[in-house]
Amino acid sequence: MNETLHIKRIAIYGSTGSIGTQTLDVIKAHPDKFSAEVLTAQNNAELLIEQALQFNPNIVVIGDEKKYNEVKQALAATDVKVFAGEKALEEVACMDCYDLMLAAIVGYAGLRPTLKAIEHGKAIGLANKETLVVAGDIVMQKAVEYRVPIIPVDSEHSAIFQCLVGETRNRIEKIILTASGGPFLGRKPNYLVNVKREHALQHPNWSMGAKITIDSATLMNKGLEMIEAKWLFNLEPDQIQVLVHPQSIIHSMVQFEDGSIKAQMGLPDMKLPIQYALSFPQRIPSDFPRFDFKKINTLTFEEADLKTFRNLALAMEALEKGGNLPCIMNAANEIAVFAFLRNRLGFLEMTDVIEKVMNRVPFIEKPTLQEYFESDGEARTMAADIVQL
Ligand code: NAD
Ligand code: MG
Repeated sequence: MNETLHIKRIAIYGSTGSIGTQTLDVIKAHPDKFSAEVLTAQNNAELLIEQALQFNPNIVVIGDEKKYNEVKQALAATDVKVFAGEKALEEVACMDCYDLMLAAIVGYAGLRPTLKAIEHGKAIGLANKETLVVAGDIVMQKAVEYRVPIIPVDSEHSAIFQCLVGETRNRIEKIILTASGGPFLGRKPNYLVNVKREHALQHPNWSMGAKITIDSATLMNKGLEMIEAKWLFNLEPDQIQVLVHPQSIIHSMVQFEDGSIKAQMGLPDMKLPIQYALSFPQRIPSDFPRFDFKKINTLTFEEADLKTFRNLALAMEALEKGGNLPCIMNAANEIAVFAFLRNRLGFLEMTDVIEKVMNRVPFIEKPTLQEYFESDGEARTMAADIVQL
């Protein structure tokens, strides 16, 4: 058989980000198994060009159309095709030149290209949790309709996914999503009120993009992950528990009907869930550092402080109520984080903005895709008005 048939062709949406660059590291370590065929970036033309020269993909897309000429010229001597703009991200997602989309764009912007990929029968390695938070019912329905696997990359969900291998017929009693607690674990509102972006951008265990790092500091990330888990694993809200585990060694757990609990463990390193999503259903070797039980001999657990980290409580409300509320919350959160990163909003004020928007945008119990798009737009405009962006 032709060897190239075994090479999985990967489209990395968001190749210049934290997940995107680590995905390229995994591909580079396994040139006999994977190739990077599509690379996309929003603004970072310089890194996109560098990646294209190194990996020689079929296509690159630069989101910011003003940067098209720069990318095109830099790649003129290669046969890499260059496209630009939001529409191109969707068009390329429909093309035949790849097998699996590693969805690593941050935020709502990842939704449309991912939907297109599903509609064209592509497997999805899903890092972009916002896709499921915004329109999880529609995304999962389409995945069933087009028989597309959605393989989670988020470490907690990858952990649960791994625990569920071989358990298809067995009912899940509950899942336990672990949370590091972020940089402000144990802090109270009187401290958080003065927190600036520089503090919030320091995560103790993970090095990630700016948006998810802030979400981890406010615990909104864990709220988004509860909603992501509901859709990925078809769970009721009361089957999803959050547990703070500051060492981030147990990545999450599943408890079955007989009381047995399975956990997936390892050092915190996103390359592992990324590689698993690319190689699934197989495991392939890696040289990632190994966890040594003798070095870290204490694993601790505590409850999340919902009174201090109110974003998590808001997300639980959105999870419980469903409809377009998670979509509204997500949009307001994206604006609030954007404003906080520009020093336009205080750390605790982010929650106030999200709460106001959740209370004001009309609730729709069973939205269509179009209604999700509209709810997102409405919530964004309202949040931007409140913070006077
Ligand atoms: P990042 O900010 O480092 O990278 C984001 C990527 O998306 C970049 O390549 C950027 O060019 C692109 N992008 C940004 N805005 C865009 C837009 N409007 N249109 C098109 N492309 C755009 O983010 P990240 O930390 O790599 O996170 C990516 C996604 O993965 C997020 O949804 C995040 O929640 C999820 N995730 C990340 C981690 C992590 O360790 N970084 C872990 C779990 C889940
Ligand atoms: Mg996670």
